[in-house]
Amino acid sequence: MSITTSTLEELQSRLQAHYCVLFLTTYEEERWEAELANLTLDMGFGFVAWSSTEGFKAPLDADAPLITEPLAVLSEVEKYPADHVILLKDFHHYLEHPVVVRKLRDLCSTLRLTNKTLLMMSPEVEIPIELGRDVLQFELPLPDIDDLQEVLTGVLKDIQKSMGRSLRVTDEERERILKAVVGLTSREAEKALARALGQRNQLDDDVFAVLVSEKKILLRGSELLEFFDLDAGVKDIGGLDGLKDWLSSRASAYSLKARKQGLPLPKGVLLLGVQGCGKSLTARATARLLSFPLVRLDFASLLSGERGSSEKNLRDVLRTIETIAPTVLWLDEVEKAFSGVSTEGGGDGTLTRLFGTFLTWLQDHGKPIFVIATANSVASLPPEMLRRGRFDELFFINLPNYHERKDILGIHFHKRKLSPEKYDINQLSLKTEGYSGAELEQVVVSATFEAYTAGRSVTQADLLLAQEQTVPLSITMEEKIFELREWARTRCRPATPDSRVMQMLEEESRLS
Ligand code: ATP
Repeated sequence: MSITTSTLEELQSRLQAHYCVLFLTTYEEERWEAELANLTLDMGFGFVAWSSTEGFKAPLDADAPLITEPLAVLSEVEKYPADHVILLKDFHHYLEHPVVVRKLRDLCSTLRLTNKTLLMMSPEVEIPIELGRDVLQFELPLPDIDDLQEVLTGVLKDIQKSMGRSLRVTDEERERILKAVVGLTSREAEKALARALGQRNQLDDDVFAVLVSEKKILLRGSELLEFFDLDAGVKDIGGLDGLKDWLSSRASAYSLKARKQGLPLPKGVLLLGVQGCGKSLTARATARLLSFPLVRLDFASLLSGERGSSEKNLRDVLRTIETIAPTVLWLDEVEKAFSGVSTEGGGDGTLTRLFGTFLTWLQDHGKPIFVIATANSVASLPPEMLRRGRFDELFFINLPNYHERKDILGIHFHKRKLSPEKYDINQLSLKTEGYSGAELEQVVVSATFEAYTAGRSVTQADLLLAQEQTVPLSITMEEKIFELREWARTRCRPATPDSRVMQMLEEESRLS
C-alpha cells in the first residue's frame, strides 16, 4: 500500500470520528486537494475549497461577492449544510488574530453537531495554544516509491508518444530511478524524470546522477549542508578492493527485495586514513553507487555559531537530512569537529551535549541515511564514536601498495587522456612507494603540464621527474602515519584485503 493510500485511510477514520478541525501540512497543495476531494465525495460528504484569491468553490450563493475576510469566511463555513468537508488554504496567517481563534473555538461545537469538518492546509503551521485540544495536526507525506510508480509510468508513456519509441527499463533500473527521486514532490519528480529520461536511447549511470541532482532544491536555505554532484563512481577509485566490495554488498541492502526480507538498513561507515588516500573520493563514489544525493554536514560552522543556537541548528539540520533521505551523509574530519568532547567531564559542555544528541540520532533515526564519517587521526576522536553499533564498520585506508598504485596511476592516465600502455607503469609504481593517491595524481598532472608547456606529449622521463619532485607526506609525517597504522591494526578492517596485500607484497619484492 502506498503512503498516500494509507494516509487517506487514516484521514477517513478521522472524518468518520467527527474531528471538527484538522490542520494539514504539505507543500503539495494541488495533489492533496484532489485526493481529499475524491475521498470526501466517496464518503458521501460535500467538498468545498476556499482560498483568499478565489473565495469558496463551490460558493453557497453564486452571486455573492468574493469572501476573503477571515471572520466572514468562518461565518460562511457555519452556514454550509451538514455533512460537508471544507478546505481552507493558507488560513494559518489569520490565526495571529485572537478574534479569529475565538471564532474557530466557537465554531467547533457547531461543526461537530452538523457533521462538518474544517481542513486547514498550509506548508507549515503554528497552532495557537487556545486551539490545542480542539484540533489535530496532520502531516501529509510526500509521495513514496509506490506513488511514484504511477508518475514514472506516465512519463515513460509521454516519451513513447513524443519520440515514437519506448525506453527499455528493467525492474532493477525502475527501482533505482524511483529511489533517486523519492523526497521530491510528485510534480518535481515528474519534471526531473522527463528531463533526465527525455532524450535518452538507453539508461546509463549519468541518468541517476541527473535525477539525484534535482534534489539540490531540497537544501535551499540550509547553510550547514552542502550538496555534491555525483561526479565520481567506484570505477574512479584505484585499489581499496575490500572497501569497495563491502560497499557494494551494503548497497544491495537498500533494494526493495532486501527490505521485504527484513534486512536492517545499513547505518554507515567510518573511514580512517592517511591524507589524500581516497576517503572523500569514496564518499562521492558511494553516493553514486547508491544513487542517493551526497550531502556534507559542516560541523565546524554548526559549532562555531552562538552556543545557544547550535542545539536548535543541529535539530533543524537533522530534520532536513531526514526529509532528503534516502541520502548519503558525509561528515568530514570528524576528529576536528568533536575534539573538545569529553563525556567524563572537563570538556566543552555544549559541544558534549551536541555530540550526544548527534550520536543518539545516528543510532535511532531509522531512515535510509548512509553516514560516511572520515578522519585523519584518532587522537582526538571521542571513543563513543568508535563504539560498535554507531557505524557498521570502521575501515582503515592505508597508503596504496604497489598494485594499488598501478591501478590509481592507470585511472589518472585515463583522466588526462594518456594511454597507459605507452608508459612503464610498473617502474613508476615501484618508484612511488609511500605516495598517496592524491600525490600519484599530482605526479601525472605535473608531468602533463610540463609536456604541455614544452609543446609535446608526455614522456616517461616527464613522469619520473615529476615523481622525484613530489615529496610524499609519508616522509614528513612518517611517525604519525606509523602510529595511525598501529592503532588501526587491531581495531579497523583494512580497506585493502589481507590476502591481496600478501600477494602484492610478494609480487612487489619479486619485481624490485
Ligand atoms: P583528506 O584526508 O586530505 O581529505 P582524502 O583521503 O579524503 O584526503 P581524497 O580527497 O579522496 O583524499 O583524495 C584527493 C584526490 O586524490 C582524489 O580526488 C583523487 O583524484 C585522488 N585519489 C586519492 N585516492 C585515490 C584512489 N584510491 N584512487 C584514485 N584516485 C585517488
